[in-house]
Amino acid sequence: MSDCPSCASGPGLPFGHKDGFSLLTCETCELTYVDPMPTTAELAEFYREYYKTRQYRGKLDAKVRRARRRIRRLKRGLTGSRFIDVGCNVGFAVEAARQSGFQAKGIDIDEVAIDEARTLFPGCRFEHTSVETLASSGQRYDVVYCSEVIEHLPNLAIFLEAIRRLISDDGLAFITTPDLGHRSIRRDPYADDFIRPPEHLLYFTRRSIERVMRGHGFTRVRFQHSFKPTLKVLAR
Ligand SMILES: [Zn+2]
Repeated sequence: MSDCPSCASGPGLPFGHKDGFSLLTCETCELTYVDPMPTTAELAEFYREYYKTRQYRGKLDAKVRRARRRIRRLKRGLTGSRFIDVGCNVGFAVEAARQSGFQAKGIDIDEVAIDEARTLFPGCRFEHTSVETLASSGQRYDVVYCSEVIEHLPNLAIFLEAIRRLISDDGLAFITTPDLGHRSIRRDPYADDFIRPPEHLLYFTRRSIERVMRGHGFTRVRFQHSFKPTLKVLAR
């Protein structure tokens, strides 16, 4: 059994099993994680199949509208206007940010998604790169937006460190991820395919994501209320 991928405490307690994968919950930070983590090659194979079935073109306008509501809410109290979407997929949140008055850019490690984003939203900037590479370039952003990404990551520590480095002095990170601790999920986390390795490798609650983020150098961690089982984290 593996140590916690966030805080490196010894092997967690058994959480359960799904589709041949085991899950553990860290006793220290309460993160629930797939054990063992799939290899890079296994994940590449999984996503090759996964992307054949994705349907991101559907409801694109609705997605832009929903993201615009979220982003306008984030804009209150901010001074700067540099926006980056980390893991932007086909770019609907980047377009929403542009429509909300930001200098909007999106990055993704999926080249096909970036090509699609450039076609769909020619008014925005997109780059096929990793968050680690962008962070080492020294660029900083006033909003670092990262929606439904961290639950997919086998290397959370490196990713969060890079996210933190991208935030400007007065900026913030806005991170969303499914909420394992939501009352509608706690009853039966296996219902409705909520637990779904290897697509989702990490499962957070309010408490665990706060501990994980503080453990990776974020000093201020707040939550926006959500009716749905989604954690909406504001951090810097
Ligand atoms: Zn831990």
